[in-house]
Amino acid sequence: MQMRASVARKTIKSIRQQAFEQTHLFDSHPESSLDFEKVRSAVKDGYDKPFLLIDSSIIREKTRRFTAAMPRVRPHYAVKANPDPRVLKTLLEEGAGFEIASIAELDLLVSLGVPATDVFYSNPTKSRDFIARAAAQGIEWFVIDSVEELGKIHSIKSDARLYLRIDTPNIGSDWPLAGKFGAHPGEAREIVLTAARLKADLAGVAFHVGSQCRNPENWRVGMEKSRAAFDQMAKAGLNPRLLNVGGGFPVRHVKPIPAIEVIGEVVNRALEAFPTAVKVIAEPGRFLVSDAGYFVCRIMGTATRAGKRWMHLDAGLFGGIIETAEGLKYKIRTDRAGPDVPWNVAGPTCDSIDVVMRDEPLPSDLQEGDYIYIKNAGAYTTAYASNFNGFPLPEIRVI
Ligand SMILES: *Cc1c(COP(=O)(O)O)cnc(C)c1O
Repeated sequence: MQMRASVARKTIKSIRQQAFEQTHLFDSHPESSLDFEKVRSAVKDGYDKPFLLIDSSIIREKTRRFTAAMPRVRPHYAVKANPDPRVLKTLLEEGAGFEIASIAELDLLVSLGVPATDVFYSNPTKSRDFIARAAAQGIEWFVIDSVEELGKIHSIKSDARLYLRIDTPNIGSDWPLAGKFGAHPGEAREIVLTAARLKADLAGVAFHVGSQCRNPENWRVGMEKSRAAFDQMAKAGLNPRLLNVGGGFPVRHVKPIPAIEVIGEVVNRALEAFPTAVKVIAEPGRFLVSDAGYFVCRIMGTATRAGKRWMHLDAGLFGGIIETAEGLKYKIRTDRAGPDVPWNVAGPTCDSIDVVMRDEPLPSDLQEGDYIYIKNAGAYTTAYASNFNGFPLPEIRVI
């Protein structure tokens, strides 16, 4: 009885503690963004097609803030978020390493003078050709999440340093990745035993909590599972010495977010379970570049169809504004002050899929020629854009 009462007390205490933490979790620190006056002045410099304005000083600030929040964790920027050479150069100057998915990304980094040893190949399934080329360039670290990939890399580069991507919960992430990549416990066991048998250097663990993750607990759980995987590897005679806590660090759009300092506290505490000799990296993409950019486009025309207001922009899903299709809500600014009404916002192409937002509240007096300014859009916009239907790629201007 007594034990039960104490368990109940403990539970109530932990629920209270959680409730306390929840209220203090979100929007606890100020977030910086590209100054809107700089966006206005860029438009005054001229406009002939959609553009992304990037302020490199914000990238620097975010990189420093990340490192200050997690002093043991070296950021390896996920190149796919925004592979503009000026963006990469800024990150290089700030001391970041990099994470790649393809040889084109590696070639770009090498052309900028990034040492191959600072690049992690974190795409769980790679072609033989790409593995061989990466190895020839001097890449040391390769991710795996299957026995097949282990065998493939081992047959090409038997001394490769490998890290195992494990499956972790993606609860509370806007882009859950669980279900695509990551070894589950039984598979992880088989990979570990196979690596030991092959005498492959399976030397670390990685996970990814899902992009724009607003739940810091996912990192704690990921790191606990990583800790268990370390033990399993050591028991099999392997020498685990790399922990990769992945990406997913969120930026502020419409919904409140846990600040990087709050996530940092969770990560730093969980790191106490890893010896100091363990190398610890993260792979932030969005976090380092989103806030540095505004995406600027223009209304080509408006229409009323079946009683609904439509605006057609000169950039849509194919022109870089694609994350809205997966539910991301951007903060949008305009130069109009009319009362908000629901608009359907479309891109310029004739494809029926090219609708960026439906029933988005925007000023009623918006009209042809007006500019649309999308805040914190430095990541996963221009990187996705295509020439589909003959519309030009957005330009990137860096200040
Ligand atoms: C895309 C990706 C990242 C970056 O994710 P963000 O949500 O932008 O931080 C990191 N690691 C891997 C393996 C990725 O595929």
